Amino acid sequence: MTERFSFSLHATDGRARTGTISTPRGEIRTPAFMPVGTAATVKAMLPESVRATGADVLLGNTYHLMLRPTAERIARLGGLHAFMNWERPILTDSGGFQVMSLAELRKLTEEGVTFRSHIDGSRHMLTPERSMEIQQLLGSDIVMCFDECPALPAEHDRIAESMRLSMRWAQRSRDAFGDRPGHALFGIQQGGDKEDLRGESAEALRAIGFDGYAVGGLAVGEGQEVMFRVLDYAPDMLPEDKPRYLMGVGKPDDIVGAVKRGIDMMDCVLPSRSGRTGQAFTRRGVVNIKNARHQEDPRPLDEHCSCPACRSYSRAYLHHVFRSQEIISSMLLTWHNLHYFQELMQGMRDAIAAGRFADWETDFHAQRAEGDIEAL
Ligand SMILES: [Zn+2]
Repeated sequence: MTERFSFSLHATDGRARTGTISTPRGEIRTPAFMPVGTAATVKAMLPESVRATGADVLLGNTYHLMLRPTAERIARLGGLHAFMNWERPILTDSGGFQVMSLAELRKLTEEGVTFRSHIDGSRHMLTPERSMEIQQLLGSDIVMCFDECPALPAEHDRIAESMRLSMRWAQRSRDAFGDRPGHALFGIQQGGDKEDLRGESAEALRAIGFDGYAVGGLAVGEGQEVMFRVLDYAPDMLPEDKPRYLMGVGKPDDIVGAVKRGIDMMDCVLPSRSGRTGQAFTRRGVVNIKNARHQEDPRPLDEHCSCPACRSYSRAYLHHVFRSQEIISSMLLTWHNLHYFQELMQGMRDAIAAGRFADWETDFHAQRAEGDIEAL
């Protein structure tokens, strides 16, 4: 087991890459999908079940944890890994994005962001220094710089101003993080959909120096076409020998398109959230289990899937427990969705290593185009 954080690239195929991130808490195979454990849990899943789906790393949310139960309490209880019973790597976001999207009465200054909690209205302040402190208290393995970004579309000037503030905060984050062997600090590229600003941001981050780099400010309402256009150039502006993380993405076809463009890590609430609203992701697209066409269907969701939901239960049962609002419905569909997302990543890792990513991608789209199996 390594004592330091490192990244090694094993193979590339076009712009797609596969490799390994090594940390003292275990290895992360890339491209990697990180399930989101917002409030110190991946909803409806035991940690060992999340691991069984093939996840190497989880994401935790600084904003939620600082408000409840607080980072200080988690630290007193031995840190986030022990608290939530997940001993493998954890990446935490900086809280910046969620403060801007969830908190009330936000006020943004050079110093940071003051806001009121969406839970009890209490007043808080997040700064680069406070965000680094919270993520250290949590014991996060991969710490994200404190930043902020506008929703898209936005004017060039507005994006530039926000990006330059985030770059000043990146320097303050780096200074506050200090030297912590075994822990990584990732910088976050901003610049919206403006190529010149993405370049300026990448230069600023490279000058500071980070263990990994995120492409931030996407998946904020711009749509897939704009996102892919930015990914056509943005990842290549970042150091080749460090992991590249696309934050908050996405749907299966977003993920495939991002990996194709050189992204190594992603996270999204989609598989777990959709599991609770009756949506299942399969090789043949999205299946809405609440649809009446499933009510007497004895077949599994996906006959080629080896998850517990597909191995042991029929569509008719999954339909029934969803309609009856039984807790097992969220458990089974979340498990299936996380399993599907991890299988997707494994398929891409294998295809990149074998130099056949283009063929794999063609098959991926062809299977989805077939659509769900015919109703009985
Ligand atoms: Zn399944």
